[in-house]
Amino acid sequence: MPGELIDGKALAAKVRQQVAEEVTEFGEPVCLATILVGDDPASHIYVSRKHDASHEAGIDSRDHRFPSETPEQEVLEVVAELNADAAVDGILVQLPLPEHMDEATVTRAVEWAKDVDGFHPENAGRLFLGEPHLVPATPLGVMRMLEEHDVQLEGCEAVVIGRSEIVGKPMAMLLLAEHATVTICHSRTRELAEHARRADVLVAAVGRPGLVTPDMVKPGATVIDVGVNRTESGLVGDVDRAVIEVAGLMTPVPGGVGPMTIAMLLSNTLKAARHRRLGLAVPGA
Ligand code: NAP
Repeated sequence: MPGELIDGKALAAKVRQQVAEEVTEFGEPVCLATILVGDDPASHIYVSRKHDASHEAGIDSRDHRFPSETPEQEVLEVVAELNADAAVDGILVQLPLPEHMDEATVTRAVEWAKDVDGFHPENAGRLFLGEPHLVPATPLGVMRMLEEHDVQLEGCEAVVIGRSEIVGKPMAMLLLAEHATVTICHSRTRELAEHARRADVLVAAVGRPGLVTPDMVKPGATVIDVGVNRTESGLVGDVDRAVIEVAGLMTPVPGGVGPMTIAMLLSNTLKAARHRRLGLAVPGA
């Protein structure tokens, strides 16, 4: 019997609705600022979607877009202005940045209390130390999906394919915090299939269409496909669609992890606003 597909769109709508209600209850304006440099069409679409979703949830937004040739210093100055602006709660730098810019320099210039992407070393360090504050939205969305579907994590074998700072590493940390036994695989991993077959929870975050095939999946496993690949046959993930015949639960692409990412970004923006404006203690601070 084929497994069940997780409806990321429906869950994302639920999370966005919850955020909208909490923003209303909060009673103060909440504001997200985005910075986009260059003319990458996909980035422009992503940023516009983030603004639309913010407005729908009652979150104000500021949209800073710059031409590709903008000097890094100019962007850093805008980041500094937004850091100092008491009306701004969250700051997001859309990646990728043009080649002449150092992504780490720009993303780390964002004040960590406003770093709704969770990329700042302070936020990454807090996650590592088990005292998370702002966590990258994509792995956070995956955790929300697993929770919604009552996936047992304690003691389970979790295998994460991919070790990026944005997805793979924070994903592994979040699973570890829930007491899963976590294996992280990457491009130099030998016997990827053997690792994958052990997984009760398998997360693919690579960017290679069809990397995970049915023979790599344990029957009944939960398979989370983070990959987004534009191919001639449309948008596909890293997981072969036939895996649903073996998996117990699986996320589709599109309509799985993607919609959750924006929902969790809104949730992070509200969290940043609450902590900063109400002076709430941040764990470990
Ligand atoms: P990334 O920075 O390029 O990292 C890819 C990871 O995959 C690296 O750790 C790499 O290993 C590993 N890898 C490459 N080839 C491999 C192979 N053959 N076997 C095993 N591991 C391999 O990408 P990312 O930013 O993490 O994103 C991963 C995917 O998720 C992309 O398709 C991206 O578009 C998608 N994504 C989706 C969302 C969403 O909201 N749905 C959000 C973010 C990303 P090395 O470290 O050894 O190079």
